[in-house]
Amino acid sequence: MSAGADIRSLTIRQVKEGLAAGRFSAVELAREALRFAEAENPKTNAYLHFCPERALAAARRVDEKLARGEDLGPLAGVPVAVKDVILTQGVRTTAGSKLLANYIAPYDATAVIRLEQAGGVILGKTNCDEFAMGSSTENSAFGPVRNPVALDRVPGGSSGGSGASVAQGTAVVALGSDTGGSIRQPASFCGVVGVTPTYGRVSRYGLIAFASSLDHIGPLARNVHDAALLLGVIAGRDASDATSAFAPVPDYTALLDGNVRGARIGLPKEYFRGLASETGDLILAGVERLKQLGCEVREISLPHTEYAIGAYYIICTAEASSNLARYDGVRYTYRSPASATLSDMYRNTRGEGFGAECKRRIMLGTYVLSAGYYDAYYLKAQRVRNLIARDFSEAFKQVDVILTPVSPFPAFKLGEKLDDPLEMYLSDIYTITGSLAGIPCMSVPCGNTAAGLPVGLQILTNHFNEAGMFRLADALERSAGRS
Ligand code: GLN
Repeated sequence: MSAGADIRSLTIRQVKEGLAAGRFSAVELAREALRFAEAENPKTNAYLHFCPERALAAARRVDEKLARGEDLGPLAGVPVAVKDVILTQGVRTTAGSKLLANYIAPYDATAVIRLEQAGGVILGKTNCDEFAMGSSTENSAFGPVRNPVALDRVPGGSSGGSGASVAQGTAVVALGSDTGGSIRQPASFCGVVGVTPTYGRVSRYGLIAFASSLDHIGPLARNVHDAALLLGVIAGRDASDATSAFAPVPDYTALLDGNVRGARIGLPKEYFRGLASETGDLILAGVERLKQLGCEVREISLPHTEYAIGAYYIICTAEASSNLARYDGVRYTYRSPASATLSDMYRNTRGEGFGAECKRRIMLGTYVLSAGYYDAYYLKAQRVRNLIARDFSEAFKQVDVILTPVSPFPAFKLGEKLDDPLEMYLSDIYTITGSLAGIPCMSVPCGNTAAGLPVGLQILTNHFNEAGMFRLADALERSAGRS
């Protein structure tokens, strides 16, 4: 690749311009991106595997179109990383689990198909917590990911590999998945943009299920424009996912004009109690910048917030216990080698295959669904979920967007919270409410702590108002001089 574009800081726009000006071909860019990503990977363990053949084939298609003068598509030549819970035909897809260590996906996820149709070049698959359960990527069966910003710290989770790849510059954009914060929290910890769209906005077809009523696929990127563009590519109705929405997909990049005058912002008082002061200060400084741009800021209340963690960890474990029942040693890859009977084989396969966090959740989920406890736990949690959703719909009668921190603290040290699952669960407090309500939310970088650790600001908005959310995020980015 010729000089002029540093692979580490490339944006989608720069790729487009570079191709158009003939500064590099898509194949040259793909080769250089693969070389760089493979060379950098030992530092962070962000990628589990690369797919050079697939990447080069996709890049060749872009170059052929370029030569024929055809429309290239909005992601033409853009190096992309894909979280390893998203199926890629013919390429290993492990979900960070020993159970799927050698699983070759038989088909592509819809998001992957759309991404490649738009000209995207998938370099490889990114590391994650096993079956996307976790907040630090330390639950991967293939070793933890290190945060490229501070290598002794976690990148967040569960899409830690996707967050790290974008921050490290080994992918221009990435796909992650989010059930209770798994895109937003790593984006916050790594200093990149991460978006959880409205539930149903992006097809889940080909996403390995964790908790189906909460699972989303979404983009991670180095700026708001690139995240908005990628979401536009992967969003939209898909006949293969009955929960995908029919609502038309607007051009999410069209409104990124920096004009947010008159936007009504709510700050939920429940989210600013007991916040580590540096994180809180950075968030409030971001809010102040938006005020100066003409936004109206008022305090609001989301009164059922304190019940969110309990409800989430009942609902997601219940759904996980059901979804993970399929890993029985009969289908997929791993099977315990020495078992006398079929039921021993099931037991041994699951006992040996699942890591501690998955086992914990399967047990918890099985318990809350069992006869006699279903009403007391699962049903009650569903009711709480409704109340939380209602809190938001009430709030959106008064304000257009809600701003909160993404996490109570910045990236923590590897190993720091591993022995205390409850402590880890509690750190999800700010992200899971939006997940339970199914509304769009995102993390946008909002400055660094004195120690240089990134802090993300969360923007939440009403169903299908992604465009309004991006507009505000973009204005915030511009106000920090980072657009
Ligand atoms: N950290 C949350 C959990 O452990 C969220 C995970 C996710 O969004 N996939 O469940």
